[in-house]
Amino acid sequence: MNQIAFNDFISAYSDLKNELDEAYQQVMASGWYVLGEQVLRFEEEYAQFCGTKYCVGVANGLEAMQLALYGWGIGPGDEVIVPSNTYIATWLAVSHVGATPVPVEPEPKSFNIDPARIEEVITCRTRAILVVHLYGQPADMDPINSLAQRYGIKVLEDNAQAHGATYHGRVTGALGHAAAHSFYPTKNLGAIGDGGAITTDDDVLADRLRVLRNYGSRKRYYNEEKGFNSRLDELQAAFLRVKLRHLPGWNMKRQWLASHYIRIFKSMQEGVRGRVLMPQVQPGIEHVWHLFVIRTGARDLLKDKLADEGVQTLIHYPVPPHLSQAYADEFWGKTYPLAEQLSATVLSLPMHPFLKEEAMGRIMAKVAQFASE
Ligand SMILES: *Cc1c(COP(=O)(O)O)cnc(C)c1O
Repeated sequence: MNQIAFNDFISAYSDLKNELDEAYQQVMASGWYVLGEQVLRFEEEYAQFCGTKYCVGVANGLEAMQLALYGWGIGPGDEVIVPSNTYIATWLAVSHVGATPVPVEPEPKSFNIDPARIEEVITCRTRAILVVHLYGQPADMDPINSLAQRYGIKVLEDNAQAHGATYHGRVTGALGHAAAHSFYPTKNLGAIGDGGAITTDDDVLADRLRVLRNYGSRKRYYNEEKGFNSRLDELQAAFLRVKLRHLPGWNMKRQWLASHYIRIFKSMQEGVRGRVLMPQVQPGIEHVWHLFVIRTGARDLLKDKLADEGVQTLIHYPVPPHLSQAYADEFWGKTYPLAEQLSATVLSLPMHPFLKEEAMGRIMAKVAQFASE
């Protein structure tokens, strides 16, 4: 029986082999490997793609968030609102600058932070809302931005999962005061290693980030402040420039695959749709399907049945941050029921631009059979 893998990096490489190999050779032959021409060009191209004035390349998505918060002067004594259901990196960025993450539960339909529940946790210490566009679907930004404006706080997007997604026609990365992007290999725009960036229209922040990422220095060996080492390297920038050109096409492929999954499921279901829920796209939004996440009360059983068929699935994420050991002290006895319910019921099916129709048919046949049992 053929195995169906969750992701397929080998096909992604084969597809772009000529361009990626050329990028590699160009950087190797240049003799310049950190913060050079490729990073500059990628920053221009990605800022243009997002529709922001600036893009600052950094080492990874976690540090992109951390540096943005730090760059705004957010630190000990401050609170930052985060989703209760996200990858732990979102919370860690807040903790690592010394601030306190304040969780807000999601809207179950979109899996994204529920704007209606934000105001009740705003205090005089709240400095920012860190919004995650989970699984590739932008959060409902208009009410979030108006709240932020009313309370004079910042909005930072965690855009690790939604490169190229749109909210009322505007691209993620330009929907708040700044956005942190991860280019970890599994992401829609993925490097061949680690990478990250911050996009923003904020002149002061962009300027400070360029200094902070490079030991606090603008001029070599002259250090204005106690900076960090968080740089995007030339090879990754060169690979990202190649991949950015293919991102819109690959996102379209993911969109087609997602609607195909849902179409097959519906055609097999005819009314018995209770046991398995398909993902939903909210109005005004273009989802880029970083992950295709279904829900079922008998999640572990379905996961095992798919594994028996050779289908690899993953859970994003099995433990909500407040229940992880990392936050055991701070969040002892606290409960976020929706995040807990999601972590017990979500299941991510294979999703990548090289997924075959035949594989999708096999996967959905199993899911639909399970749903009607
Ligand atoms: C991948 C991811 C990150 C972290 O990105 P790294 O580049 O691995 O540091 C942060 N937030 C979310 C939601 C992610 O999916």
